[in-house]
Formats: sequence, structure tokens, C-alpha cells
Amino acid sequence: MHKVLVTGGAGFLGSHLCDRLLADGHDVLCVDNFFTGSKRNVAHLLNHPYFELMRHDVTFPLYVEVERIFNLACPASPVHYQHDPVQTTKTSVHGAINMLGLAKRVKARILQASTSEVYGDPEVHPQREEYWGRVNPIGFRSCYDEGKRCAETLFFDYHRQHDLDIKVVRIFNTYGPRMHPNDGRVVSNFIVQALKGEDITIYGDGSQTRSFCYVDDLIEAFVRMMASERGFTGPVNIGNPGEFTMLALAEKVLSLVGGKSKLVFRPLPADDPRQRQPDIALAQDKLGWQPKVALEDGLKETIAYFRQLLGG
Ligand code: NAD
Ligand code: UDP
Ligand code: UDP
Repeated sequence: MHKVLVTGGAGFLGSHLCDRLLADGHDVLCVDNFFTGSKRNVAHLLNHPYFELMRHDVTFPLYVEVERIFNLACPASPVHYQHDPVQTTKTSVHGAINMLGLAKRVKARILQASTSEVYGDPEVHPQREEYWGRVNPIGFRSCYDEGKRCAETLFFDYHRQHDLDIKVVRIFNTYGPRMHPNDGRVVSNFIVQALKGEDITIYGDGSQTRSFCYVDDLIEAFVRMMASERGFTGPVNIGNPGEFTMLALAEKVLSLVGGKSKLVFRPLPADDPRQRQPDIALAQDKLGWQPKVALEDGLKETIAYFRQLLGG
């Protein structure tokens, strides 16, 4: 049993991670400023004797005593991270410095939730961890992409300079219950639109691809990475290699939800990557991990969550 800090613990991924850590018998401190997360996501945990919720912004120092840190605090969807881009970069960079400073003081193992966005709009496919990426440093997505890249730099410099025990995971698009209904991400958008009988908005011609990992698979990878041998820092890709066009996703969601929604086409946002697919050979080799949940099964769970949330 460990004392575990989860930053961003009231968010989509963070709340599932808190569930899992408590189920595994750990003592969990959940820290969140509720920018995109909500108390509702962890309401069922508030009476748990080993769960503690703290309102705190990670851009400010945090003095607590813990043995493990999962650093997830950061808005993840374009609508949210572009709402206050300066704060987004601060959260990634100052947040990483504070959590690394904390890890250094208490000698905790620390895991960073990085992202496939560090690869930008990639010219190699699928993306392996050795690929350095193709990121626009001055665009609308840069606050997130470059913030996360700088956070990785900080993790590796604390590792080299202070011998910190770090773990870096690069998360590819993940979906599931507790996604924010208005965060503009494609899976939540399509499901909510289909459930409300609204038009399904496909950006561009819908031929761009993404690979979608179900949240339970991702959390299993987090847990395995945190437990991995000290010498293995990552970065390691975590995602589901099954690749789909947005058009195919829209049709799948529509067939599962039913209803009369029509597909409509809207302009493609700036710097929208054409293709994204993880190469997960490293995770398979080092963590013995690979995703198990098929897109259709994960979508059914997610649809059931949104159906209840929307009261239908
Ligand atoms: P989310 O928005 O649901 O969760 C982020 C959480 O961080 C929220 O609860 C939010 O309130 C909190 N937060 C934001 N700024 C904060 C700050 N300054 N101080 C304290 N808390 C703060 O998003 P998510 O999908 O759960 O993402 C969690 C992490 O995983 C993020 O770091 C994100 O970049 C990373 N990630 C997610 C995905 C994905 O597909 N979901 C993909 C790649 C990376
Ligand atoms: N920090 C923190 N909690 C701690 C220890 C440090 O939030 O328990 C913050 C502290 O505010 C500092 C940052 O982490 O700004 C980096 O700490 P480090 O020790 O690496 O650097 P220094 O304090 O020397 O600037
Ligand atoms: N997308 C779409 N319709 C929507 C929302 C998103 O076609 O209503 C597209 C978007 O342009 C992108 C893909 O779906 O090509 C994934 O978008 P998301 O914001 O979920 O993730 P990211 O671009 O960060 O991978």
C-alpha cells in the first residue's frame, strides 16, 4: 500500500485512476483545481476512508508527503486548453516543476501523463517513441503540445540531474465514461449529437484517422508503468493501434445509437493531424501490456454513460 498523489484526479482519466488505486488498496490524495474536472467524477469516493480530495492549482507549490505521484493535471481537449492558452502552458510547465520539486524532496516515484501530441502532425507512421515529432511552436495547439514537450524535458533533466525516479507515458486518444460532454472531442461530440438527434459534425472530409483506446485499458497501462523496474523511464506509447477514419467512427456511433442524425461536414481546424496511430511494441515488451477492449464494446459503455447523463 502506497500514499499516492493524483493531480488532475477529478478529471476523466484521473477519476478512473483514483478508482483503480483505491481498489488496489492504496491511500489516494486527489488534487484538482476543477477547471475541467468535477466533484461529480469523484463524488462516489468522498466517503472512502483512504480517499482525500484537495482543491489546489499545481502551478503553485504543494507540500505533502507521498510515495507515488501521477501528474495528470492539464486540460486535455482543444476547446479547454485553448480557452486560456497561457494558463495551459503554465499548468504543464510550472505544474511539472512543482511536482518534480515535490518528488525530489520526498523521494517519490513520479509519472507524467504526456501525449501523442508531442509528435505533432507526424511524417512517420505509426509513431515510435524515438520519433522527435513535427510540432508548430507558434500555433493554436502549441500551448498544449509544447507545454507537454517541455514537461517531458523537465522530467528527463530532473532524472539526469537529481536522479529522480521518473516514468513518462505518451497517451494516444482515450475515451470512455466521464468524458466531458462539451469538450469538443470527437467521441463525446459524436455520441452526444447522435443521442440528441442532432447533426453529426465531421471536420474536413472525415478521412483523417485516429486510434481510440478505452479508458480501462489505459488505466491498466498506468498501473503497470508505475510498477515497472526503476531503470525503465519511458517515454512509452500507450494507445490502441486500431485506426479509424472519422467518417467510419461517425457511422459506427450512429449505428450503435440509432436515431435520425445526418452527417454534416465542417471546416477542418488548423494544424489538425492527418493520421495518428501508436506503435506499442515497447509497452508490449516492457509492460506486457496491450489493449483488450474493442472500439465497439468501449463505445457501448460510453454511450450508456452519456445516455444516463443526458437523462434519456
Ligand atoms: P480532463 O480535462 O478530464 O482532466 C484534467 C484534470 O486536470 C481536470 O480535472 C482539471 O480540472 C485538472 N486541472 C487542469 N489544470 C489544473 C491545474 N492547474 N491544477 C490542478 N488541476 C488542474 O482530461 P483527461 O482526458 O482526463 O486528461 C488527463 C491527462 O491525460 C492530461 O494531462 C492530458 O493531457 C493527458 N492526456 C489525455 C488524453 C486523452 O485522450 N484523454 C490523451 C493524451 C494525454
Ligand atoms: N516544490 C513543491 N513542493 C515540495 C518541494 C518543492 O511544490 O515539496 C516546488 C518549489 O516551489 C520549487 C519547485 O518545486 O519551486 C522546484 O523545486 P526544486 O527543489 O527542484 O527547485 P528549487 O526549490 O531549488 O527552485
Ligand atoms: N472531429 C470531428 N468532429 C468533431 C470533433 C472532432 O470530425 O465534432 C475530428 C477532429 O478534427 C480530429 C479528430 O476528430 O481530426 C479527433 O479530434 P479530437 O479533438 O477528439 O482529438 P485530437 O485532434 O486531439 O486527436
